[in-house]
Amino acid sequence: MARNLVSRRRPSGRMVRVLVSEVVDGDLAVDGPTGALSQRREALWPGPWTWLRQVHGDRVILVEEPGGGAGSEADASVTVQADTALSIQVADCAPVALVSPGGLAVAHVGWRGLQVGVLERTSKLLARVAPGPQEAVVGPCIRACCYEFGDSDLEVLCGQFGDDVRALTSDGRPALDLPAGVRIDLERCGVVDIEFDGVCTGCDERYWSHRMGGSTLRQAMVAWMAAP
Ligand SMILES: [Zn+2]
Repeated sequence: MARNLVSRRRPSGRMVRVLVSEVVDGDLAVDGPTGALSQRREALWPGPWTWLRQVHGDRVILVEEPGGGAGSEADASVTVQADTALSIQVADCAPVALVSPGGLAVAHVGWRGLQVGVLERTSKLLARVAPGPQEAVVGPCIRACCYEFGDSDLEVLCGQFGDDVRALTSDGRPALDLPAGVRIDLERCGVVDIEFDGVCTGCDERYWSHRMGGSTLRQAMVAWMAAP
């Protein structure tokens, strides 16, 4: 059953909801069978979804109406509109939601997204359209225990984010600590209120993992603000 990561009333009176789906909610990959996909989406959020063709890049879109920009090639979206659902599909990459007093954003963050600065661009666009302190919620993603990582790529990321991103897998091989990278990147954006779900998609059978099973199936994060 989809889990509720956030259900919080904002100073504006709007209620923010952030859900993450699980295996039992079905495959939310955007290239999945279309009829089944719309039924699965409807079970989580009945209105139109803004979904993205994710490319591990840094493009962020501004969504101005429910379903706006659906199918855009981008890795993050931002809105200030109520009842406008933003979504990200993942299997190991981190789904990140950013909430400001009057706005909401979601981002798809793997190691390449970290490297190209997708979080910084998302946070900046959110700050421009809905200024004020931002809170972050990081959904289930792969953690160091399961994320063996090549030495040369790890060096590059350590150069960018420091040695805190260097870790070991549960069997002692060099690993990337993706949540640590996300935390460092968010802190650099000035986001200090960060909540981690803490679940590893590689270890936890409620989620699909690309790394641990080569899965092409995806869970989704879907987030929206309800009008007061
Ligand atoms: Zn793990």
